[in-house]
Amino acid sequence: MRRIDPSEAHAKPLPTPDADSQAYWDGLQQGRLLLQHCGACGHVQFCQQAICRRCAGTELLHRPSSGRGTVHSFSVVHRAPGPAFKQDTPYAVLLVELEEGPRMISSLVDADPMSVDFGMAVELVCEEVNSRITLPRFRPATSAKALPTRG
Ligand SMILES: [Zn+2]
Repeated sequence: MRRIDPSEAHAKPLPTPDADSQAYWDGLQQGRLLLQHCGACGHVQFCQQAICRRCAGTELLHRPSSGRGTVHSFSVVHRAPGPAFKQDTPYAVLLVELEEGPRMISSLVDADPMSVDFGMAVELVCEEVNSRITLPRFRPATSAKALPTRG
């Protein structure tokens, strides 16, 4: 578990957990990225919702992701969207395709943002912001070889 500088933590906008997403945020605090698995059709989704996006089923089970994935797309931000992010530039925003299939937006840590490339293997880093919020970030994979990119 990483901890970010407390002086930085309050300056940036943070997510607000709700009834649908509380389990997801609790999972991150325990170092696990939870995905919703549909008990009716098997669909796996990243976005925490009350129903399955494929079949509208309501039997959704939380299971931890392997935390491994590949960079499906990315953008390196040189001009901060607000003052709180200025010290971070340049930084890489990633669209990560998880091993389980869903894609999620995150950002790169522990690497030069200019080193990011399509298909790069990455792994989850849980970054604790405060006692309620831990954010999912990704760093270059250290243990897994590159995964094939799905079409
Ligand atoms: Zn379903």
